[in-house]
Amino acid sequence: MKRSKREAKIERFFASERKRLVRRKIKGRGIRDKAVLRAMKAVPRERFVPENLREFAYDDAPLPIGEGQTISQPYIVALMIQAAALTARSRVLEVGAGSGYCVAIMARIAEKVFAVERNETLAAELGPRLAGLGCQNVEIFAGDGSAGWPEEAPFDAIIVSAVAPHIADPLLQQLAPGGRLVIPVSRDDGEQRLLRVTRHGEERFEEEDLGGVKFVPLIGEEAFAPST
Ligand code: SAM
Repeated sequence: MKRSKREAKIERFFASERKRLVRRKIKGRGIRDKAVLRAMKAVPRERFVPENLREFAYDDAPLPIGEGQTISQPYIVALMIQAAALTARSRVLEVGAGSGYCVAIMARIAEKVFAVERNETLAAELGPRLAGLGCQNVEIFAGDGSAGWPEEAPFDAIIVSAVAPHIADPLLQQLAPGGRLVIPVSRDDGEQRLLRVTRHGEERFEEEDLGGVKFVPLIGEEAFAPST
């Protein structure tokens, strides 16, 4: 069989696995936002994981992406994006872009996605990978995003994809009126909770607890200190 035919067959296989994952584990677990479901059916997760882990791309689980980091579990990505309540006019920031999977999904829904990744190796891979998938509405910054991206604020939504020790004030201040911050925060007992904070006024914020999660740590100025 010629390579191109073989590749096409593999692509069809992944597409059917992707549909199954979305039906069973995303819609099946209560995600109702149609734009999120559509985008998750379209973004090829196998392109965001290392070659030797492609066969596991449609397990509803995090996977290693090198540099001691992970691509997030699809259900959690869907839950976070749904909680961010994106529209076609949203400007959204992701802190901790990792493989770029969550960025690629948001780029299909929102007007513009700003992505910050602290790890230089992962950050350098983001541009080519996302461009290869046709994402043209993404800006990438390699560095510490724990205090957001003030030059590009305000944002209609901010998603933090690593666990923070607290909700940093600069992130709250970079929310547009009505904006949503979706962030995992670790409690004193070590449990991590996924929180959504909505900005209702200049200094008026509403906090909701969306459940227990498990993320790698957010490292930086407004986050945990790097381990030596
Ligand atoms: N959402 C990502 C995806 O779809 O692949 C997964 C993100 S991974 C769970 C968390 C990422 O946060 C890691 O790549 C890590 O390097 C990054 N990170 C940790 N602290 C950071 C910081 N202060 N600023 C930006 N990125 C950070």
